[in-house]
Amino acid sequence: MSGFDLVVRGGLVATPDGMRAVDVGILDGRFAAVRERLDVAGAPVLDVSGCHVLPGAVDAHVHLGLVIGGEPSRDDVAHGTLSAICGGVTTVGDFTVQAPGEGLLASVRRRVVAAVDARCDWFLHANLTTVTPDTLAEIGDVVAAGVGSLKTFLAYPGMRIDADLLGQVVARAAEHGALVMVHAEDQAVVDRATSHLVGRGDTAARYFFASRPDAAEAVAVEAVGAVSARLGLPIYVVHLSSAAGLAAAVRARAAGARLYLETCPQYLFLACGPATPLHAERLVCAPPLRSPEDGEALVRALSDGTVEVLATDHCPFTTAQKEAHAEDFRKVPGGLPGVETMLPLVYDAALSGGLSLERLAAATAGEPARLLGIAHRKGAIRVGLDADFVVLDPAVMTPISVSRLHSRADYTPYQGRRLRGAVREVFLRGELAARRSAAGCVEPMGDPRGGFVRAKPPLCH
Ligand SMILES: [Zn+2]
Repeated sequence: MSGFDLVVRGGLVATPDGMRAVDVGILDGRFAAVRERLDVAGAPVLDVSGCHVLPGAVDAHVHLGLVIGGEPSRDDVAHGTLSAICGGVTTVGDFTVQAPGEGLLASVRRRVVAAVDARCDWFLHANLTTVTPDTLAEIGDVVAAGVGSLKTFLAYPGMRIDADLLGQVVARAAEHGALVMVHAEDQAVVDRATSHLVGRGDTAARYFFASRPDAAEAVAVEAVGAVSARLGLPIYVVHLSSAAGLAAAVRARAAGARLYLETCPQYLFLACGPATPLHAERLVCAPPLRSPEDGEALVRALSDGTVEVLATDHCPFTTAQKEAHAEDFRKVPGGLPGVETMLPLVYDAALSGGLSLERLAAATAGEPARLLGIAHRKGAIRVGLDADFVVLDPAVMTPISVSRLHSRADYTPYQGRRLRGAVREVFLRGELAARRSAAGCVEPMGDPRGGFVRAKPPLCH
C-alpha cells in the first residue's frame, strides 16, 4: 500500500519552491506528499505528462446573487460556484450585504447558510454597508464567526465613507486581526464627471467610461495610502483598474503605506475605446474599463508582484438587464461575468510570456489565501493543505464562447477569443470536480459540493 488515494504524476507542479517536476500524493482530501518519484504501489495514478499542475484558484472577489438598483445579478451561489469550479476556481470569496437596519453579525450569519448551495469552497468578507458605532462593536463577533476581512467603499452614495471614518474602521478591525478592503474611487470626482456628461445630454451607455475617470481612482488610492501610513496598518485595495491608480499606490508605499493590491481580468484583457460603443452597456462595471495602456501597465505590475492578487469581481447581468437602461448609464446594473474565464485568460498570458507560472499561481491562489486568512487550508500545493488543484494543458486551445460557460449570464465580454492552453481537470479536496470533455468543454463531475471556509484573522499570523 502506498498510502495515497491518488497520485498525480508527470506534470510540472507549481510548488511554494517554484515550478518543479514532482509527484503529488493525495490522502483524505489533502496533499500528503509533494516530491520526486513517490511510491505509488496500489494507488490510482493520474498521468498529467506535458501539463501544468497549479493550485486551485482562489477568486477573492465575487458577488453572488447581489441586488444592484433592484436588479439581482444572474449568478446565485449555486450557479456562480458551478461556473467557478469549471474555470479552475476551487474557492471563492463572496461578500455579505447588510439589509437596512441589519446588524453586521446578523448579515454574516444569514449569508453563511447559503454555503449549502456552493459547488466550490467559499469564504466571506463582511460588507460594511453602514458604519455606526454598533457596527464597529460587532467586528470581534464577526471575526469569531470565521470572517477575517471587511469591505468598505469610498464611492457610492449611501455606502461611502470618508478617510477619517476609514481610519476608524481600520484601527478597530486591526484590534481583532481583521483586514479592511476598500473600493477606491473618489465619489466627488465621479460626481463632477457625471454631471458634466449629463449636462450635455451624454447619458448613453458609451459615455459611462468617462463618468468614472482614472483620477477618481488615483485620488482615492492616495487617501487610502495616507490612512495606512498614518496607522501603520495594511489596507487591501480591491479591483485596481488604472495606471494612474497604480502609480498612486506605488507612491503611497514609498511614503510608508502598506497597501495590498488586487486587479481583475477585465482591467488586463479588455479596454474601452473606439471599438466599444456597440453594446457598451454590457461592459458597464465599476471601476470602468480603461485603455490598452492601462492594461499593459497592470499586467507588468501583476507580473513583478507590485499587484499581488488577481480576482474577478464576478457579478453578471443579462443583456436584457443591461439593455433596459442603455440610454442612461447611471441606471445600467454594473458588473461582468468572469469567474470561469479568469484562469484560462491568465494562463494564456503566461504561455505567451506575460507573466511566469509562479506569479500566476501566487496571484490566483497563494497571495489571496495568505492575505485574506485562509492559507491554513487553501492557496498552495503543500503537504497538509486541501488538495485543490487544476491540471492545465498547454498544448490545447480554449475557444471562449458563452455556450461553453456555466454562468447564467447570456454573454461573455471575451466571446470569440481563442486562448492558448486549457483546463483539463479540476480537483476539489482530492475529488475530481470538473473535467474537459472530448468536445473540449469543461463540465462538472460527480456533483461537486463546497463548504464554508472559516478565515483566520489575517493580521494575526
Ligand atoms: Zn466587487
